[in-house]
Amino acid sequence: MFTGHLKKMDSGLSNPVEYLLVLGEERIGLNQYLGKKLTLIFENQINCINCGKNIKKTYNGGYCFNCSQVLARCDLCIFKPQLCHFDQGTCREPKWGEENCQISHFVYLSNTSELKVGITRFTQVPTRWIDQGAISALPIIKVGTRYQSGIFEVLLSEMVADKTNWRKMLSGDITPINLEMERDHLFEQFGERLDELEMEFGDDQIEILEDEQVVNIEYPVLEYPRKIKSLSLDKIPKIEGTLLGIKGQYLIFDIGVINIRKHTGYLTTFQAEEK
Ligand SMILES: [Zn+2]
Repeated sequence: MFTGHLKKMDSGLSNPVEYLLVLGEERIGLNQYLGKKLTLIFENQINCINCGKNIKKTYNGGYCFNCSQVLARCDLCIFKPQLCHFDQGTCREPKWGEENCQISHFVYLSNTSELKVGITRFTQVPTRWIDQGAISALPIIKVGTRYQSGIFEVLLSEMVADKTNWRKMLSGDITPINLEMERDHLFEQFGERLDELEMEFGDDQIEILEDEQVVNIEYPVLEYPRKIKSLSLDKIPKIEGTLLGIKGQYLIFDIGVINIRKHTGYLTTFQAEEK
């Protein structure tokens, strides 16, 4: 039995993905509990993951309202990288921006439930893909900053979705996509505009990746849910069920699915039946 503040699950790329439940300082290997009964109990306390303040609800996934207004990682430009305003000198936390946004990013294609374009810091590969539950992913452009990745993403999203359909992602019924073919197709479609952007940002900043390898990702899932019922600790403070799988940031129980990341900052107790 462990009690601590929930954070998003840690993961490691192996076959299948190795998941760790993070409860405060504690890290609990979850794959071993597949097929076993688990209990999550919300201790009716939420704390901001930045300042620790006791709060009733979280903003921006785990923060108090005040922190959500002053931290760069909670700014709108994190969700819309094309709005990054670092170069205008107005970043909320220039040092954080320097370390997290003014660094190499990848624009990638992935298959979460359909073809999707996304961006990620180079340090977040393959974590970002696992967090989204992608079954395959392929970096297609390497760029120098978060802002640049956003501009490319906006361009490519004219033809490719940039959102994940989490219900479909959890259905397990996902058609394979030839990402290399999709990449070639996009490069063909957008060739001229990609060249223009490369010129604009400088070719020391932009690298069009024409022959990266597809990363395939398998998840520890015994059984996909037939009907997807979403569980939350706000509504059900004691969730008790048999763990049927883990995908993205979701635990799949026989009684429904729970998005662990959504509960960041929730003081929670984890119990498991004997291994
Ligand atoms: Zn706070």
